[in-house]
Amino acid sequence: MRYTKYFIPTYKEDPSEAEVISHKLMLRAGMIRKITTGIYTYLPLGLRCIRKVENIVRDEMNRAGAIELLMPAFQPAELWKESGRWDYYGKELLRFKDRYGRDACLGPTHEEVITAIVRNEIHSYKQLPVNFYQIQTKFRDEIRPRFGIMRCREFIMKDAYSFDADEEGANKSYEIMKETYHRIFKRCGFRFSMVEADTGTIGGSYSHEFMVLADTGEDQIVVCEKCGYAANLEKAEVSEIAEFQDEPELPMQEVDTPDIKSIEEVSSFLNVSPKKLVKTLICLVDEKPVAALVRGDHELNEIKLRNLFGAEQIRLADEEIVQEITGAPVGFAGPVGLKIKIVADHSIKGMKNFVTGANKKDKHLINVNIGRDFQVDTFADIRFITPQDRCPRCGNDILFKRGIEVGHIFKLGTKYSKAMNATFTDKDGKEKPFVMGCYGIGIGRCVAAAIEQSHDENGIIFPISIAPFEVIVLPVQMNDADVVKEAEKIYHKLLEAGIDVIIDDRDERAGVKFNDADLIGIPIRVTVGKKALKEQKLELKLRSEKEKELIPLSSVPEIVINKVKELYDSLK
Ligand code: ATP
Ligand code: MG
Repeated sequence: MRYTKYFIPTYKEDPSEAEVISHKLMLRAGMIRKITTGIYTYLPLGLRCIRKVENIVRDEMNRAGAIELLMPAFQPAELWKESGRWDYYGKELLRFKDRYGRDACLGPTHEEVITAIVRNEIHSYKQLPVNFYQIQTKFRDEIRPRFGIMRCREFIMKDAYSFDADEEGANKSYEIMKETYHRIFKRCGFRFSMVEADTGTIGGSYSHEFMVLADTGEDQIVVCEKCGYAANLEKAEVSEIAEFQDEPELPMQEVDTPDIKSIEEVSSFLNVSPKKLVKTLICLVDEKPVAALVRGDHELNEIKLRNLFGAEQIRLADEEIVQEITGAPVGFAGPVGLKIKIVADHSIKGMKNFVTGANKKDKHLINVNIGRDFQVDTFADIRFITPQDRCPRCGNDILFKRGIEVGHIFKLGTKYSKAMNATFTDKDGKEKPFVMGCYGIGIGRCVAAAIEQSHDENGIIFPISIAPFEVIVLPVQMNDADVVKEAEKIYHKLLEAGIDVIIDDRDERAGVKFNDADLIGIPIRVTVGKKALKEQKLELKLRSEKEKELIPLSSVPEIVINKVKELYDSLK
């Protein structure tokens, strides 16, 4: 590629609209441009990186035996009604009506479509297992699109769906994908961690996320370096702590707390530690009210509570319902005298003489005790883990890290096949539902994550596998015929050797060329300059290193080709 025949509209200054470094650098490097909120064009350079990630993904999926197809983005509502998701997939689903008034949507994911296809096309256990994948544009009307193509409303995803005859087969398919994801993300040059995750609205029995480690990541993950336990914050289990407070039960007492509502306010007003407070949160679990109790310094994990009930939905009750159930405004709820189901976090079991709301405006209760003053229906793990907690597996210290979710694998089981009546005939002649798995990778997000993880003050430092070009040939003096001639010669030799190379043939100052090469993050730079050329030498520099190296003109292109190979080998 020739710079002058290509299109790389770089910016010198940081664009003000960007909050994170990858977004800034993708705009500055001329990789993406925003059309409207959460909707982007991939300019040629950005598209090159996208294609490189796609190629790695495709290569590894094919190698794992998955089969590529391409499904439509347009999906009829009927399929979503069959699976039951039309009603509870929220506003992220971009719904519309066609000219005949029929409901449809733009696919945020493709469980329904693939299940419908397999239901029609696959009838016998002999055709199983099978894993279909596609690389396609997805639509999600995200509530908060941000960070450029990291979280946008239209994005490219690789999604795969496995179909097996039984649990054992499905587990095998899942394990193959797990391994394949490790290979893919290694080839992308990521420092990443695989963590246990909740299955969310896609449903199913278990799942793992692949997190690229980066301080700016939106996700928090919990890791134990001793035993290797790793989970995202939503999922991280808290071990049951049997910490019993050894003190006599004091008489329960109602105290005035005028307009004192939050944990911080109550704690400082009554001069007690938040650890002596119990928060009572009125939740609607599939619209049924439940009181969830957690210690003052802990946070309720609604997903754990939802899972405890095997429910589809959960939300905090609004003012009106809280008033109706507790007889008091929000901020004064407590378990004493409540007529609804009470679920308490394990950490409350051993507490004595604690403070709760009194279910009366401007009143709290002190010296409340379980058993004597109220009963708990269920004790369970319903809170978020904290840095003070220990590893739920081995009891050692845990670390909190931040990550960017680039991939997600789910074991779906028979959720969709049962709902949509997708069955096959098994060995014994019986009709059985397919056992499914699904596996996603955010292609664009991978590019952004790579930049987030690897950059410096001058720009992007791409791993060679996803860089827009592997090598840039940079003639310094465009008015020197020898320089231009040598640069052209090297450029053509590298092209012939199959190297993805660009020559910066612009009639620009050297500084401008160096800055742009650094900004767009080409891993290998070959500089052709008048001075070195006199000694039959060229300058070789890796974007990831400070030092330059002078190499003999006679050993080009071999040295450069070897460097390219070396960089790829380091990603194996
Ligand atoms: P998140 O928790 O980040 O919203 P998700 O759990 O909704 O993601 P999945 O349904 O698991 O996402 O989608 C598979 C992959 O697609 C994700 O791992 C992520 O890499 C990518 N992805 C999801 N949503 C977006 C988005 N809005 N923009 C870009 N990539 C996305
Ligand atoms: Mg996810």
